[in-house]
Amino acid sequence: MPKKLYLETVGCQMNVLDSELVVGTLRRQGFELTTDVQKADVILYNTGSVRQHAEDKIYSALGTLRSHKRRYPEKIIGVLGCMAQKDQERVRRRAPHVDIVCGPGQLAKMPELIAEVERTRRPQMAVSLGRAEASRPEVTGSFESYDPMRDPAMRPTAFQAFVRTQFGCDKFCTYCIVPSVRGPEQSRHPEEIGAEVRQIVNQGCKEITLTGQTVNSYKFPHGDGRTTRLSDLICRIHDTPGLERIKFITNFPRDMTDDLLDAVATLPKVCRYLHVPVQSGCNEVLRRMKRLYSVEFYQDMLNRCRERVPGVAISSDFIVGFCGESEESFQKTCDLVATAGFKNSFIFKYSPRPGTKAEDLFADDVPEEVKKRRNNDLLAIQGKVSFEDHRRKIGETVEVLVEGPSKTALKYDELPQFTGRTVTDHIVVFDGDKRLIGQTVPVHIDDASAFTLFGVVATGVLAYGRNEPQERTLVAARTERLSLPMI
Ligand code: SAM
Ligand code: SF4
Repeated sequence: MPKKLYLETVGCQMNVLDSELVVGTLRRQGFELTTDVQKADVILYNTGSVRQHAEDKIYSALGTLRSHKRRYPEKIIGVLGCMAQKDQERVRRRAPHVDIVCGPGQLAKMPELIAEVERTRRPQMAVSLGRAEASRPEVTGSFESYDPMRDPAMRPTAFQAFVRTQFGCDKFCTYCIVPSVRGPEQSRHPEEIGAEVRQIVNQGCKEITLTGQTVNSYKFPHGDGRTTRLSDLICRIHDTPGLERIKFITNFPRDMTDDLLDAVATLPKVCRYLHVPVQSGCNEVLRRMKRLYSVEFYQDMLNRCRERVPGVAISSDFIVGFCGESEESFQKTCDLVATAGFKNSFIFKYSPRPGTKAEDLFADDVPEEVKKRRNNDLLAIQGKVSFEDHRRKIGETVEVLVEGPSKTALKYDELPQFTGRTVTDHIVVFDGDKRLIGQTVPVHIDDASAFTLFGVVATGVLAYGRNEPQERTLVAARTERLSLPMI
C-alpha cells in the first residue's frame, strides 16, 4: 500500500511553491497525499517565520500531535521551511516528537531525511549556514534553490503556477527575518527558468507568476559581460507558445527600472499589475526600517509607473505599529493610503522577530491594542479607496481568467458563481459555467464592493464548447475592440 503524506503550509507564496515541489518529489517516490492528518504516515508542516502568528499556529498543531505520535511511534513528523531554519534544535526542544527539521535551502534532502528516519529511527536535521557562520560563498552554497520537476496536480489550479526567479534577499530591512532564513540573494539562470516555464506551459499552464523576495532586482551575470535583467527574462519567456499571462511579485521600490516598466507596457502577455510594498508613509519610520527610500521617492516611482504603463494597478504592503511609530507617523501613512490610489493593501501588525536588527536596536513600544486599531483604521481607508476604484469599473468589459467556483458558491453549494482575475489583478465574481474554468472570458461589470467586482459573461461565449476555436476568436475580437492587451 502506498505511504500517505500530509503537508500543511502556513506562509507566503514562497512556502506554497516549496510545498508544491516537495509534494511533487515525494509523490514521484510513491507517496499518496491525504488531507487527514490522522491517516498520514508522514506529517509535514512547511512554515514561514515572517510573523510570530504562523509559528504559534504550527507549534500548537505539533502539540496536538504529541499523543498521536506516542500511539503510532512509526509515523514521521517533520517541520520544513523558514521556521525550521530559524529555530533549528529549538523545534525539538519545544516538540521532542518531531523527527525532521529541514530549512528552505535544504529541501532537496527531504526524501533522504525520511529514509534515514525510517532506517535509524533517529531525528534528522538539515539546515543552511547562518549569515555570520562562514564566508558569503559558503553561506550562499548552503542555500540551494530547490526547483525539481513540477507536478501540475499539486497546484491550486492546473493553469496557474509560481516560478522562482530568485532565492534569498540582501536588503536587510530591520524588521525582516527573510535574509537570515532564506540566505543571500541568488538569481537563477534564465535558461533554467525558461525551460521550467516551457515545461509547465506544456502541462497546460496559462499563467506564470515569477516570484522573488525583490523580484525586480533579479540579475543574472553570465560571466562574459552580459547580464540578464528581469525585463530581459520576461522578454525571453514571453513568446512561449500557450502562455497567456505573466505576473511578477514582489517588487522593491528602488529597483523599479524604466526597462521593466516598458516591458510591462509593451508586452501583451504581461499583466498590468505591480505589487510594490511601501511599508510606511512616514520617512522617519522608513529610515528605522532601513527601506532605503523616502515617501517622496516612492511617490515619484508611482507616478513613473502610471506614466509609462497607463492603466496599471498597484498594490502595497504596510506594517503598522513598528517601533517608535507615533500617532503623527501613523497619520502620514493614512494620508498616503488615502491619496496613492492603491488597488489594495496588505496590512500587518508589527511582529518582533528575534535575530533581526529591529529586535536588537528598538523597543517594540506600540501596544497591541494600538497596533490593532491602526490596522483597522488603515484597512478602512484602503477599503474606501478600493471601493471607489471598483465603482469606476462598473460598465466596463474586462478580460477574466476564470479560476473556479467563488467562495460563496463553495460555501452554499451555489455552483453557477465563478471567480477569476483581470489583467490588473482585480477579482471578478460572475454567474458562469464550469467549462469556463481555465478560459479567459470577457465579463461585463455591473456591480462592485470594496473587494470584488461583479458581472456577467459577455453574451456568446457560453454558447461555445471548451477550447473550440470560435470561442478564442470571439474573445480576441472583443479584446481588439476594447483595445485591451491581446491574449
Ligand atoms: N520582499 C518583500 C518586500 O520587501 O516588499 C516582502 C516580503 S515579506 C515576506 C511580506 C511582507 O511581510 C512585507 O512586505 C511586510 O509588510 C511584512 N513583514 C515582514 N516582516 C514583518 C514583521 N516582522 N512584522 C510584520 N510584518 C512583517
Ligand atoms: Fe524582507 Fe526587506 Fe528583503 Fe522584503 S526586501 S524580504 S521586507 S528584507
